[in-house]
Amino acid sequence: MLVLPVCSADAGAAEQTAAVMGRRFSVHLGRALNPRLCFNSRSQVVAEPLLEELCSLGLSRFKLLGVTGHDLTADGSSYVFGLAELGGRAALLSTFRLRCAEHERFMLRLLKEALHELGHTFGLKHCTQSCVMRFSAEVHEVDAKPACFCSSCASSLTRFQSLAGRI
Ligand SMILES: [Zn+2]
Ligand SMILES: [Zn+2]
Repeated sequence: MLVLPVCSADAGAAEQTAAVMGRRFSVHLGRALNPRLCFNSRSQVVAEPLLEELCSLGLSRFKLLGVTGHDLTADGSSYVFGLAELGGRAALLSTFRLRCAEHERFMLRLLKEALHELGHTFGLKHCTQSCVMRFSAEVHEVDAKPACFCSSCASSLTRFQSLAGRI
């Protein structure tokens, strides 16, 4: 997969995400997208046009994960941790609400939410088991879920991965 900072200011967060995902996957770090960001009245970045921009990059060999430090909103939600194309190629992750004074906790949150968004790109939907695909509305729910897929999601993922080839 290719991890891309959304803006140059997001380079550190993208590097950290790439490092934590690199423990499990083959990860490349790309250059900043520097898109024209679309903000709402609460200074949040609207995720959908950003995700579209990510999708329009002609990098079809990889799953793409855009990382931003901006707070994200999508589909009228008060905020989202990320957004992904279900069964597609691209996903977005915001570190804004995952930040934590405890570095290891922050890294674990990054890992969980990056895995979650990546799972969506492989067609996984939200899961109610003890699973990284469990929907988290708040950060304490991110902390509460495991950094792995339940057996059912893991077997779907294996099936999707063999269909999709390499990450
Ligand atoms: Zn989700
Ligand atoms: Zn699951």
